[in-house]
Amino acid sequence: MKIAVIGAGVTGCLLANSLSSTGMDVSIFEKSRGCGGRASTKQTSWGQCDLGATIVPAQKADFIKFMQSLCDKNIASKWPENVFLSKQNPGVTQALEKYVGDRQYYVFNHKMNAACRHWIQNANLNTSSLISQVRYLVGKGWQLKSNDIWQPEWFDKVVLTTPWPQSQVLIEKSELPLKQSDFSQSWTSCWSIALKLEQLVANDVDLVYLKDQSIQTLVRDSNKPLRPQVIRLEEASKSEIWVVQLANKCSDDLGKLGKEKAISIAIKGLCELFDLPYESISNHYAHYWRYARPSPGQKPLGILSLPAEGIYVGGDWSFGPSIESAYEAALALSQAITTGE
Ligand SMILES: Cc1cc2nc3c(=O)[nH]c(=O)nc-3n(C[C@H](O)[C@H](O)[C@H](O)COP(=O)(O)OP(=O)(O)OC[C@H]3O[C@@H](n4cnc5c(N)ncnc54)[C@H](O)[C@@H]3O)c2cc1C
Repeated sequence: MKIAVIGAGVTGCLLANSLSSTGMDVSIFEKSRGCGGRASTKQTSWGQCDLGATIVPAQKADFIKFMQSLCDKNIASKWPENVFLSKQNPGVTQALEKYVGDRQYYVFNHKMNAACRHWIQNANLNTSSLISQVRYLVGKGWQLKSNDIWQPEWFDKVVLTTPWPQSQVLIEKSELPLKQSDFSQSWTSCWSIALKLEQLVANDVDLVYLKDQSIQTLVRDSNKPLRPQVIRLEEASKSEIWVVQLANKCSDDLGKLGKEKAISIAIKGLCELFDLPYESISNHYAHYWRYARPSPGQKPLGILSLPAEGIYVGGDWSFGPSIESAYEAALALSQAITTGE
């Protein structure tokens, strides 16, 4: 059976892994140059940093079990041990309190998109392939329009794992009656800024959540397990990389053009929190994310399918806004495809 999966984020890659392990012939089509989607890693000239999803919080028992199985295979690790919360802006070290939540915390080893690469080993990955339309022909199956050209290959089934707004456009163009109810998403943004620090922060704080402030998280990225740290090894013992993510509201207010301001908020936040001189920051890299998320009060939609024609649609948005939701979506899609439901 030939399956086309659109999107190589966590949902698409996990799904490809599950389907190819049952012997299906899986091809993934991804518009970017690599896999990972919003679980993305940036390689700069001065180091590597995870600029999208920073950690994998796990809440439900089956997802904790899944993450634990990845730890056993050396694909993920439990990290960080200590999570802190700061309620002050600007924070001071003393204001940090231990955050005790109902979740286990993990990261993927090496870099956040490394797990995706592992999952698609037995699938065909087509990168730089923007799918603008999918069409169904009775008796032939599914055909894809990639980079404005209809591809000659036909597939038995097609799975859209792109974010909801992109999936919605493809569904509409396919002219198939996939029931979408009144599901809607609103757009928000997040400035994510990596900072190289020419000294080590002398404490055991690796992750700080900030509440109702212009910054939402600070992560000691180079302390994550199995990271190459900074590029030159001799520097690794005296420098580290932090990733600062600004709150959605602050990012929306700054907009894409507010890069310099976003960087200065990140530098100020990190330096004030740990009482560091501003000059200790030697490099920075900023990325502006714009993404859709369920509108307030909106219930997750679950996955959509038309088994007779063989089209399936799902992503993190099917169950929530996280890697755990992407896992749930991949599981639900895989089950629906293999049982033909
Ligand atoms: C800044 C930021 C921080 C986050 N932090 C965390 C965190 O700490 N923990 C956590 O659990 N979650 C976090 N998340 C959320 C998490 O990253 C997502 O829930 C998860 O990665 C979604 O996976 P997905 O595969 O469903 O979607 P995506 O990762 O969006 O994957 C969809 C893929 O489809 C591709 N695509 C889109 N349109 C097309 C098209 N037309 N043709 C071909 N390809 C297409 C995209 O390029 C992308 O690779 C964060 C997200 C952001 C943006």
